[in-house]
Amino acid sequence: MHDAPAYIAPGATLGVLGGGQLGRMFAQAAQAAGYGVAVLEPDAHAPAAQLVPLQVCAPYDDTDALHRIARVAAAVTIEFENVPAAALAWLDDHVPLAPHAAAVAVCQDRAEEKALFTRVGVPCAPHAVIDDAAGAAAAAHAALLPGILKTARLGYDGRGQITVRTAQELSAAFAELGGVRCVLERRLELRDEVSVVIARGRDGAQVALPAQRNIHRGGILFASFAGDGAVDADVGARALAAAREIAAGLDYVGVLCVEFFVLADGSLVANEMAPRPHNSAHHTIDSCDVSQFDLQWRTLVGAPLAVPRQHSAAVMLNLLGELWFDADGTQREPDWAAVLALPGAHLHLYGKRGARAGRKMGHLTFTAATLHEAGDHARRACARLGLEAF
Ligand code: ATP
Ligand code: MG
Repeated sequence: MHDAPAYIAPGATLGVLGGGQLGRMFAQAAQAAGYGVAVLEPDAHAPAAQLVPLQVCAPYDDTDALHRIARVAAAVTIEFENVPAAALAWLDDHVPLAPHAAAVAVCQDRAEEKALFTRVGVPCAPHAVIDDAAGAAAAAHAALLPGILKTARLGYDGRGQITVRTAQELSAAFAELGGVRCVLERRLELRDEVSVVIARGRDGAQVALPAQRNIHRGGILFASFAGDGAVDADVGARALAAAREIAAGLDYVGVLCVEFFVLADGSLVANEMAPRPHNSAHHTIDSCDVSQFDLQWRTLVGAPLAVPRQHSAAVMLNLLGELWFDADGTQREPDWAAVLALPGAHLHLYGKRGARAGRKMGHLTFTAATLHEAGDHARRACARLGLEAF
């Protein structure tokens, strides 16, 4: 690991691998504090590329591109965990990188993630790692069925996942996913889903944002709720304690999100983690005095991690590409004026060019004095946008 200076002052340039919406919001936060931002991203029109003076437009494993980023950036972070391991390992040797390559490698692989959860004593769903057809046959037992077969690597927004009920369905699903390494997880009865975001500095200091409750639709996050009453205090405290164990177990530096399932008896099961800010905590930009993106640059530059305070209750709605189409398939711009007329609306659009079903185009956060009030306004926004209410 490259030695990091104790503190990188504003004026320096910070590098980010990946130019999607998370890179864009990182850039917005870091630029506000006076840092320059350079993005390594192969798409010239990516959300973050539109905002920063320096985009290195190349694949993540391009040697020249990595050299350029290492030269201009005082430290580098990621917005996307699927950067090739070799590229991360090279950067780790040449520039301060947070999170470090070994921690990201664990987050790239569901099997490794689950092994880590188990090692630090955090429960996860009953599961089996499947490498070949024989493994699929061996995993088809009552403890894991009905289950969800997930590719070990490269899945997101429910992609690379198939629900299976029988041994036959399991072997067919394994073939359908290309015969790549997979994890079969038992399908659990979920009472709720919650996530927590924590930040850990190079000195091991940790702070956390308040836990949020999440609703998924079709494997994609639909809404997140944060503030008094969103998450049972005891559940939130246990989720936070588990996330701290996980971060410490990885000797983690940076922002880490852990997603949990809450089972019927109130017990918690870790689902997965992300070595970066997370969609479920986008509300912190508008609801907290320090957002998850502020924590990302603070951990990267070695600035103090003040304990974040949530000043408003919040409900966040994801804005997916479907919203840009009428029922008959004609493209249109959603009626933003109608939702902006509602109190406490914060509209975030990522500047993506083509709207497609399931594509995350932006998000809309409602802040209010109470969660009830924020929920009320968010429900009215759903009605105005034509979204099924929660
Ligand atoms: P993302 O990276 O966008 O969070 P993903 O593609 O990695 O999503 P998961 O987090 O594994 O997917 O699963 C997406 C959603 O599917 C979960 O939030 C949950 O609603 C449901 N789900 C996943 N695994 C299980 C399970 N074992 N039992 C019940 N529901 C599950
Ligand atoms: Mg998930």
